[in-house]
Amino acid sequence: MLMTEKLEPLLVLNRAFQHIYRALSLDFDELLQACSFKFDLVYPLEGTNLIVVKQRDRVPGYIYVSDLSQFLYCPRRFYLTYRVVNIVDKIKLAKIRSKLQELKPELRDGALLYDIETFRRILVGIYLHRCVENTFKFLNLPRSYEVEKEVVDEDLGLIGHVDLVHVRYLSQEEYEKCILKYSEEYCEKPRATVYEVKSGLYREVPESYKRQAQLYAYLLEKREGYIVEKVYVAHPVHPSDITSGIYFKLVKIEYDREKTGRELLELIRTARRVLREREPPRVFVSRDKCEKCAYKLICLY
Ligand code: SF4
Repeated sequence: MLMTEKLEPLLVLNRAFQHIYRALSLDFDELLQACSFKFDLVYPLEGTNLIVVKQRDRVPGYIYVSDLSQFLYCPRRFYLTYRVVNIVDKIKLAKIRSKLQELKPELRDGALLYDIETFRRILVGIYLHRCVENTFKFLNLPRSYEVEKEVVDEDLGLIGHVDLVHVRYLSQEEYEKCILKYSEEYCEKPRATVYEVKSGLYREVPESYKRQAQLYAYLLEKREGYIVEKVYVAHPVHPSDITSGIYFKLVKIEYDREKTGRELLELIRTARRVLREREPPRVFVSRDKCEKCAYKLICLY
């Protein structure tokens, strides 16, 4: 199959995004069934919008980049996501407390709390990632693509799963220009383009997702020694906006490695500090945020 290097990722993504409309039309149970291989526990807290989840391949003690958007929304929400099973006895709302107490300790251990909308987004994401993976296998694409690439930063205790990375080396001509200005080591490093795949039909990509894509780029540079050239968020277009068979939109994200590195360090330090506490942090978030937040039922215990 002959495709130019520039077009390949776009064709693959387009093919995968065709399936996103199928994922978006599935009801919650169908979606869960399609993604059940990923979970040991899915435990809805009846009468609430909350759900306790234990993901099979999660590494305990690490923070996942994808959960940092919870922190950016509200540190208290982030705390409850990671620590709710440790503070079960303190929850004042009896029906939630007893429901959580019914869980066997071995199932509680390492389980996280999400609201249904967030968990549904996670399921659609898993479904979409499978579509991208299958499309790659089907097209038998070269190894210069990495799907769902795991990046682990042991120093920060951080794990990220980068949806799609395209890796290349400088051409002879580019190398000759590069070596005039930079070291041999720099010019020989692999160059990467990062694609963060989202399932929302956005008019404007949310800031937290832009931040997520930047963090992945930073981790790839720090841990894998890549030079990230471009960062994109890919998301499906609204069905009424599908023209000429293009199912997704590619949004270029600004990336400044120094700035992202500084921000990430600060973010992780604060998130870790929050998780170490016995009590959820005091926060000053807008009333509007709390109104929309499913965690409000247990937040003010
Ligand atoms: S209810 Fe408000 S304070 Fe509590 S977790 Fe949600 S946003 Fe944060």
